[in-house]
Amino acid sequence: MGDTRYLAWPFFESQHAQFAAALDVWATASLGHTAADHDVDDACRRRVRALGEAGWLQHAVGGKQWGGAADVIDTRSICLARETLARHDGLADFAFAMQGLGSGAITLAGTDGQKSRYLPRVARGEAIAAFALSEPDSGSDAAALQCAARLNGAHYVLDGEKTWISNGGIADFYVVFARTGEAPGARGISAFIVDADADGLEIAERIDVIAPHPLARLRFTGCRVPVEQRIGAAGEGFKLAMRTLDVFRTSVAAAALGFARRALDEALARVTTRKMFGGVLADLQLTQSSLAEMATTIDSAALLTYRAAWQRDQGQSVTREAAMAKYVATEGAQKVIDAALQLWGGMGVVHDVPVERLYREIRALRIYEGASEVQQLIIARDLLRDVRPSTP
Ligand SMILES: Cc1cc2nc3c(=O)[nH]c(=O)nc-3n(C[C@H](O)[C@H](O)[C@H](O)COP(=O)(O)OP(=O)(O)OC[C@H]3O[C@@H](n4cnc5c(N)ncnc54)[C@H](O)[C@@H]3O)c2cc1C
Repeated sequence: MGDTRYLAWPFFESQHAQFAAALDVWATASLGHTAADHDVDDACRRRVRALGEAGWLQHAVGGKQWGGAADVIDTRSICLARETLARHDGLADFAFAMQGLGSGAITLAGTDGQKSRYLPRVARGEAIAAFALSEPDSGSDAAALQCAARLNGAHYVLDGEKTWISNGGIADFYVVFARTGEAPGARGISAFIVDADADGLEIAERIDVIAPHPLARLRFTGCRVPVEQRIGAAGEGFKLAMRTLDVFRTSVAAAALGFARRALDEALARVTTRKMFGGVLADLQLTQSSLAEMATTIDSAALLTYRAAWQRDQGQSVTREAAMAKYVATEGAQKVIDAALQLWGGMGVVHDVPVERLYREIRALRIYEGASEVQQLIIARDLLRDVRPSTP
């Protein structure tokens, strides 16, 4: 499983090292790119099922009573899970992450009825979850969302669109954030569970991206959702979306770390075998400089990632720390992967070799769940709040 010395860092307890080792053994035996993966929907469904059957998805939901591994989601475990899965297979990491993100609002604020209906199936890999916040005209400025939910008797009626929805088209249910209008802006949004077969919900478009995974634009036209499907209080939906993202933001950094570690492994394998100038590529000092940069970038990202995860597991706020981890790990992984591809030379740009796949996999992580610029703003705002308490 590569270099595991970091698992001895003081951020971890003994069960974390055991967890990472066991998942690595399972992933080695069970995962990997296969010829059947040309059908990305099917590939994703198979991974959700396999992760569920093996028990790994229990870590993505909270509440032992509802099938979770613990009552509160352990940030270090989800980070180790994503790092390990990303090192083996980007789609498996995606499948794990979306089960957590898609059901996170239910874990955090669902009623017992909602939890019992959805969470055990999510944890067993029997129901696929999705998180629907972004819209064509509101991405980074998520509080500007326009999808409307009007209360009409015992139902809300949803009208509008959501886009870039991961698992769109294969999800069994969507957690949808829509404007209910209790107040302007962020305080007038509520969260709903919408079953995929609800009348008035359609997949308006499937979106094909550079690292294929199920992604869609959803359209709601007079879609009736029972009041009991609202999660939390009316008007509290935006806060709930942010709390959900807060649980999983550090895990995006961990996924980037997994991609970067795999890139370094691939680079080391290549430079020690590629014959060149009477020796191998690794003999050249410029190669060694590149390897040193890669390893140092990875350790910097890992330190920030597991500091944020540990701090969150201590019950402390991690606004600044999670933003630093996501920013440094995703930007750093892009550089590490690019360097690995360079060391592979022409072989590195051949479609579907591991470094080429990683090159495509990493790109979206610098954009979703808060683009790098948004993370910089969060860090700066937090810094300024310390010296200028009136900063919003
Ligand atoms: C592969 C993928 C999967 C996704 N999955 C989901 C999902 O499951 N559910 C969901 O709801 N959404 C999902 N998204 C949407 C994602 O969260 C948005 O793409 C993201 O929030 C950015 O929004 P946008 O694409 O509209 O870009 P825009 O908001 O138009 O931003 C464009 C660029 O502007 C820059 N920028 C943004 N804010 C600032 C600022 N304040 N200052 C300076 N520059 C700035 C950044 O570089 C950013 O990339 C996904 C996106 C991708 C690419």
